[in-house]
Amino acid sequence: MDVLIQEFMKKIELRNANEPEFLQSVFEVAESIIPFAEEHPKYKKHKILERIAEPERAIIFRVPWLNDEGEVEINRGFRVQMNSAIGPYKGGLRFHPSVNLGVLKFLAFEQVFKNSLTGLPMGGGKGGSDFNPRDKSDNEVMKFCQSFMTELYRHVGPDIDVPAGDIGVGAREIGFMFGQYKRIKGEFTGVLTGKGHEWGGSLIRPEATGYGVVYFAQQMLHTRGDSMEGKTVIISGSGNVAQYTAEKCIEVGATVLTMSDSEGYIYDPAGIDKEKLAYIMELKNVRRGRIREYALKYGCEFFEGQKPWNVKCDVAFPNATQNELDGIDAQTLVDNGCFCVAEGANMPSTPEAIHVFEQTRILYAPGKAANAGGVAVSGLEMSQNSLRYSWSREKIDSKLKLIIEQIHHVCVKYGRIDKDYINYEKGANIAGFVKVADAMIAQGVV
Ligand code: GLU
Repeated sequence: MDVLIQEFMKKIELRNANEPEFLQSVFEVAESIIPFAEEHPKYKKHKILERIAEPERAIIFRVPWLNDEGEVEINRGFRVQMNSAIGPYKGGLRFHPSVNLGVLKFLAFEQVFKNSLTGLPMGGGKGGSDFNPRDKSDNEVMKFCQSFMTELYRHVGPDIDVPAGDIGVGAREIGFMFGQYKRIKGEFTGVLTGKGHEWGGSLIRPEATGYGVVYFAQQMLHTRGDSMEGKTVIISGSGNVAQYTAEKCIEVGATVLTMSDSEGYIYDPAGIDKEKLAYIMELKNVRRGRIREYALKYGCEFFEGQKPWNVKCDVAFPNATQNELDGIDAQTLVDNGCFCVAEGANMPSTPEAIHVFEQTRILYAPGKAANAGGVAVSGLEMSQNSLRYSWSREKIDSKLKLIIEQIHHVCVKYGRIDKDYINYEKGANIAGFVKVADAMIAQGVV
């Protein structure tokens, strides 16, 4: 089997040199799918995995804009339309200096499996830019978003490709891009998700990824007759996903010990409670400040330049970014008693870290399963836009819970190794793959 995987990866490496994140994400999937395709020859015959690993198309474009000094700035924009076998392309936009084609191809590839797992009719895509909104004024962000959409509009649409947010793209950026799309096209339509509730957005969309990760962790703990109540939790990140993971953890009776940003992490042994979390939300979302200010305000420690993985805990939520947790971190977590890891970020664990989680048989769920709640509620936003209707909070939250339960169920179906161990990575890969692969076979070689 290893030889088959190596041969496959050689081919993929030749086509995608200098894209380490993309190769990493394809390898993780190939490890589950190549043995599965040996048992189900139709997938092998139709070369489905090789086809899924090649984007249907990738668009690269110039994004020129004027800064507050009146100078011209130029960024690069991307949209990777990975797979449309089961629905229009769907996936976020990331604005961050680290963005390049390889990073977006890995995210788009992951998105194909994630979206399939939700059970909703969404293909996979991802886009973004190397633009950094962090040090820009609101006016500059607006100028950039308008320029970005002035090219992107011709490639997207409610039945073609529906972008949303990701790192660096929140309600403010979605608003500016939606405004520009509407102005160019002259139509008010569900071309983006994550919109404001007053103008076509869904309730619970801001909360969905974070709540969903906690619902998924609850499902995993239930398989061992356990729950989140009374658990100690560490979270990395302090953006949208981390904030609502913390909110839900507090609600279900867990103690949140850490949150972080790119400068370091705060460790609050008393636990980040509701009131302290409200401060973090104001700090990050309104003032766009840094997490270190929390340590000053509440008199706890700030660990400069470090990640929280050596803090003793029961449950860990890597919610910041890709490859933020390596093999050594994973071993430290497990040695300190952590027995459940649910990824709010996309591919935050390196292959070595995943190897540690699998060898030690702890509960480990990859992002494509655990953080699918965000895109699931985006799918519900698309449904509401089509209906020209708006569902209640209760209705969306119960749909979100049900979708997460179903994802957990199929991960168990395809990932159960023995009576005591479920490999969620394998389960998510196979369950996500089967639906897309069958649709591709049905639609012919296109
Ligand atoms: N960027 C999110 C993700 O990684 C959400 C995508 C969406 O809502 O389309 O799944």
